[in-house]
Amino acid sequence: MAIRIYNSLTRKVEDFKPLNPDVVSIYLCGPTVYDYVSIGNYRTYMLGDFVHRTFLSNNYKVKYIMNFTDVGHMTGDNAGDADVGKDRLEIAAEREGRSAKDLADYYINDFLSGYDSLNIIKPHKFTRATEYIGDQIALVRELEKKGFTYRISDGVYFDTSRFEKYGQLSGLSPDTIKEGARVEPNPEKRNASDFALWKFSPKDEKRWQEWDSPWGVGFPGWHVECSAMAMKELGDTIDLHLGGEDLRMIHHQNEIAQSECASGKEFVKYWMHGAFLQVDGGRMGRSIGNAYTMTDIEEKGYDPLALRYLYMTAHYRSSLNFTWESLQNAQNSLKHLYDILSGYKEAEKAQPSERHLASFMEVLNDDINIPESLAICWEMLKSNLSEPVKLATILQMDKVLGLKLEDSIGYEIPEEVLNLVKTRLEYRKNGIWDKADLVRRQINDLGYVVEDLPNDKFKVRRKI
Ligand SMILES: [Zn+2]
Repeated sequence: MAIRIYNSLTRKVEDFKPLNPDVVSIYLCGPTVYDYVSIGNYRTYMLGDFVHRTFLSNNYKVKYIMNFTDVGHMTGDNAGDADVGKDRLEIAAEREGRSAKDLADYYINDFLSGYDSLNIIKPHKFTRATEYIGDQIALVRELEKKGFTYRISDGVYFDTSRFEKYGQLSGLSPDTIKEGARVEPNPEKRNASDFALWKFSPKDEKRWQEWDSPWGVGFPGWHVECSAMAMKELGDTIDLHLGGEDLRMIHHQNEIAQSECASGKEFVKYWMHGAFLQVDGGRMGRSIGNAYTMTDIEEKGYDPLALRYLYMTAHYRSSLNFTWESLQNAQNSLKHLYDILSGYKEAEKAQPSERHLASFMEVLNDDINIPESLAICWEMLKSNLSEPVKLATILQMDKVLGLKLEDSIGYEIPEEVLNLVKTRLEYRKNGIWDKADLVRRQINDLGYVVEDLPNDKFKVRRKI
């Protein structure tokens, strides 16, 4: 059964045909590591995870690369121009009084812990832009050799009018592109859509991060890194390139231009773009104060896997609205799922239901329709299959869903936890709330949760 993918390049759903039948190559544009990653960005990384797991479940081997932008991402990006303004990493390093490297390390670690708690499978490699400076310089040299570049006072630029296919992905031709309204257009540029490949360090300023190059001291333009790293790790032509929809118009268009002009080959077979996450029905943004992070989710007492479940309720090309209520609903559904499974016993081994697995794979392979595959999972649980068959089937499905369902199958609460629960109840009866709370936390640390029910009743369950 072929995997079908909506290709943003052709704007059609196409049968996926791998370049190399043995290994599928995937590249995903990762975060700029100057701040905490928002749950909006994580929606894109979740798409990467579902695509990754879909290929694995179809018995493909996958080579999957994701990058960290730790240099050259300018504030002008908001206005659609990546070459103006200040380097976001430099601003943050200055603000926090630490080196750009320390700053990037700190935010990468924070990102990785969110990545783990969402149960996202790690790519083959996370590549850091600063570790590929030589490859980026080599790419720019190649473009220079082939006559696609020109030099102006602040850097070396790519001449987009030299690339016939410019605008194929974005649907915009170079002469219809205007520079962002909020930025001063650079009068030295030949075309508004031209972009920097190498930027010179300001003469009167020492940057936190700068490198020698054939053109002088400076740093690579943001778009160059993804072309250089993707081609270095995966080859000149790759199967699948993923990213958020905000990257399609400019960043990905520029990646295509640089890569194809340098190699003379097609860069990417299939482009996939994930839709934004909205918050309370509107735009999410740092300036609005609603760019929530994984820490916000956990501090409010939600399980990160409830957020994973919420992401699964919308198709990746549809917008998804985040509210605390929708997260609560997702957590309730997930809890319900865990409750059902906790009633099952693992003892009997059975074969999964082929019919349900086949429908599950069919919707999954139809442009990664996760909401439909989740619906089939629920339908299967409500069917009259025997418990062992249901269990065998759902564990198979969870290889894609990634909800750690295995952990909730019929288990016994350890004696130690039960004793703590009793102690807590005593404290509560006597109104010693602070001690009761302390014991509750001990129970949590052991991986269990106590839920208080009316009339002094309670329920203990594994933490979800
Ligand atoms: Zn990129």
